[in-house]
Amino acid sequence: MSAPTIGGVQIPRGDGRIVQIRQGASLTDLAERIDANPASLVTVLFHLGEMATATQSLDEDTFALLGAELGYEIRMVSPEEEERELFESFDIDLEIGIDSEDEEDLQPRPPVVTVMGHVDHGKTKLLDAIRNANVVAAEHGGITQHIGAYQIHKEHEGVDRAITFIDTPGHEAFTAMRARGAKVTDIAILVVAADDGVMPQTIEALNHAQAADVPIVVAVNKMDVDGANPAKVRQQLTEYNLIAEEYGGDTMFVDVSAKQMLHIDDLLEAVLLTADAALDLRANPDKDARGVAIEANLDRGRGATATVLIQSGTLHVGDAIVTGSSHGRVRAMLDEHGNTLDEATPSRPVQVLGLSSVPRAGDTFVVAPDDRTARQIAERREAADRAASLAKARKRISLEDLNAALAAGKVDTLNLILKGDVSGSVEALEDALLQIDVGDEVDLRIIDRGVGAITMNNINLAMASNAIIIGFNVRAEGQNAEYAEREGVEIRYYSVIYQAIEEVEAALKGMLKPEFEEVELGTAEIREIFRSSKFGNIAGSIVRSGEIKRGAKARITRQGVVIAENVEVAGLRRFKDDVTEVREGYECGINLGSFNDLQLGDLIATYEMREKPRA
Ligand code: GDP
Repeated sequence: MSAPTIGGVQIPRGDGRIVQIRQGASLTDLAERIDANPASLVTVLFHLGEMATATQSLDEDTFALLGAELGYEIRMVSPEEEERELFESFDIDLEIGIDSEDEEDLQPRPPVVTVMGHVDHGKTKLLDAIRNANVVAAEHGGITQHIGAYQIHKEHEGVDRAITFIDTPGHEAFTAMRARGAKVTDIAILVVAADDGVMPQTIEALNHAQAADVPIVVAVNKMDVDGANPAKVRQQLTEYNLIAEEYGGDTMFVDVSAKQMLHIDDLLEAVLLTADAALDLRANPDKDARGVAIEANLDRGRGATATVLIQSGTLHVGDAIVTGSSHGRVRAMLDEHGNTLDEATPSRPVQVLGLSSVPRAGDTFVVAPDDRTARQIAERREAADRAASLAKARKRISLEDLNAALAAGKVDTLNLILKGDVSGSVEALEDALLQIDVGDEVDLRIIDRGVGAITMNNINLAMASNAIIIGFNVRAEGQNAEYAEREGVEIRYYSVIYQAIEEVEAALKGMLKPEFEEVELGTAEIREIFRSSKFGNIAGSIVRSGEIKRGAKARITRQGVVIAENVEVAGLRRFKDDVTEVREGYECGINLGSFNDLQLGDLIATYEMREKPRA
């Protein structure tokens, strides 16, 4: 069949050839692959009844439609698949899991530990204490270099055991790495100050660790302080399913003082006991190394350096390596004492010298058969990274596509993150959601909850866990909203609990058919408030995005918390004139009718309901 033109446009024809494009690709990307003109693809698509710009990222169905018309089979690949295929094409096996190894090749490896907890509860001090406690025991002297991780030794049941600590405390780094697909931590030490008890970031850290399925050891710190109440910490944490061994649970709690270096040894003991009880920490050391970059720098004298954590295999000086889009040959390896090493085995962090550029934390690193292959992989990755940063709106998961994802076996759990304006409503929502009868095939998990606006951290966790965020009377604003949009994290907003429940339930049953969606028209920030006897209060505002239209529906938020819904922009003025719309960057006076509870800094967001095209 030959139809050389569509809509008057000459297009190249495929013969059923398979074309692979990455998720989030646009018509321009496709055009490049099939040697066509992007503008003509826009036209073809238009004739098929779909409108899209050349650079807009499109979903699989749209590409399938276009592919069928053009004679190509278009396959969409995820970044992970693409990565695997890239390495396969060079005959490199990426697996690090123990399932992919022969039993007799596996050797025990040390646990890798991250220290998390609320600010000022003593994470940094504890990492120092562990490091210093080991100086006495270590023959090779103190830990002199900060390379992002260190390893200590401890005698356990007569055997010398190593433990690796990630030297960046806090869960932000942990989650950011996990969002990029790197699983580094085996065990989390949750630090809780005995005089302060469980605080918001304690819970956040705990949620992050639990979402990643990482066992927790609790260090109850600051035991030297008056008013230390370790029993209360244990009591508080039972609410979060961390039940101390002495209360019949399986979490080890150790009372310590980082400042006075008390019971640090017991804490290390607890880490080893937990590792031995809960985890199978083994790896094959007899193969080419692979792992993760956990820190990287540009050093004036030494060039690009990266600290890599070996996850399997053994790294040797002279190996050709690639990490992210950086490559090179291992010129030297240094440990945290500044000593040079000839080789590094699983769970060992080493600083590597000899890379072409600085990788990012979380980049996987792999030994390649030779320099040329390392360079080619790095170049291909760089090209892929460029494409990825161009591709916007990678949809991860949404309530609408949940059922298709369930059916395709891509997911078996709906992960939710709940944020609300007050803790009462978050709890009520959580209780109600957990009561939904979802049957056996699918699991509903609430992996984090909290009070306040939706933060970057929430979005990162959603990315890492493929979760949907539910905002109950709270919103993600500005940069955070853009970030979520860019990363394809779905945030659903509700102000009525039963509506949230209904939609989640409908999604789980595959019956969600929302017909309308809210489209934001513009936002304005209140800079000044004028009192008018005739009209009530007038909000002297500056339009921050989009445009504000008279008659539009508005929502008012104060520091991310919704204080009014469904308010109307009753009057709109620029200087003395009544106007119908005001665009971004301009000042205006907004009258919100009978709604008068205004404060400086409040955000007025206008929106309209539009019918949603069903795919
Ligand atoms: P981070 O924010 O969790 O890293 O907390 P830091 O390690 O910076 O500690 C916060 C403050 O608590 C510092 O002033 C520390 O000196 C102090 N601190 C940490 N651990 C202890 C402890 O065991 N006892 C006492 N009294 N103070 C501590």
